[in-house]
Amino acid sequence: MSFRFANLEGRASLLLENDSLVVDLARATDGQVPEDPMLAIARWDWIQEWASARSRVDAAVPLADPAALGPCVPRPGKIFGIGLNYRDHVEEAGIDPPSEPLVFAKFLNALSGPRGVVKLLSDRVDWEVELVVVMGRGCYRVAASDALAQVAGYCVGQDISDRRLQFSGKPPQFSMGKSIDGYGPIGPGITPLASLRDPHDLEILCEINGESMQKGRTKDMIFGVAELIAYLSRYCSLEVGDLIFTGTPSGVGSLRDPRIYLKPGDEIRSTIEGLGSIVNSTVVG
Ligand code: ZN
Repeated sequence: MSFRFANLEGRASLLLENDSLVVDLARATDGQVPEDPMLAIARWDWIQEWASARSRVDAAVPLADPAALGPCVPRPGKIFGIGLNYRDHVEEAGIDPPSEPLVFAKFLNALSGPRGVVKLLSDRVDWEVELVVVMGRGCYRVAASDALAQVAGYCVGQDISDRRLQFSGKPPQFSMGKSIDGYGPIGPGITPLASLRDPHDLEILCEINGESMQKGRTKDMIFGVAELIAYLSRYCSLEVGDLIFTGTPSGVGSLRDPRIYLKPGDEIRSTIEGLGSIVNSTVVG
């Protein structure tokens, strides 16, 4: 059976049937999978084998409240962000394409779940829908040809960005403006690598209050997932659960004419083909 790996109230769980059903992994496996999602992700191969041996799970129950889902990787060791990694986004920014990946950090406090609330601390907060890679194995200096074998799967992410803070000085400081509490919602769960035909050809969408703002394809990434993993692991050891936000396509609010930013009460819906949707709302910070 196909599944997504999720975090329901701090417990490792599987989402089934288009995220309508949920299974508590520790209970369904008689404790063979730890309750803690981080410890459970370390048993990724075992979970995949267990799920692939089944067509259904008796212990599955309806997912009563999607807002009870937390970030599917609650405590990654590292969260990388990649800037200017879609050709159309580089064009709208009027900048030359980067010759090496443009890397920044998002801090752990930024993570939230697929229904997390975004607090607006300024009137220049922007959206960035992104494909997020979840590492399934630790690796160091891995070749691009071996890189995808180190991946557990993918989820949908929003690299919410406070442009006021990001561009408050020169040079700009990406990490602070993108690491405010709740500025990294991810989910709804980790879709296993094996469930996707081609992660480099998925439709990627962002709607604000039902209006399409971003609509692209992951094939427009400048540096693909394997290249990014090879590049990052040349310098940093990668560990199980590490996240890579792989950049956003065109259509962010700050590069529109006229510019548009998030307002209190907005609904941000981010969708990637095969990975589901996350829906986040905004409030005054
Ligand atoms: Zn981004």
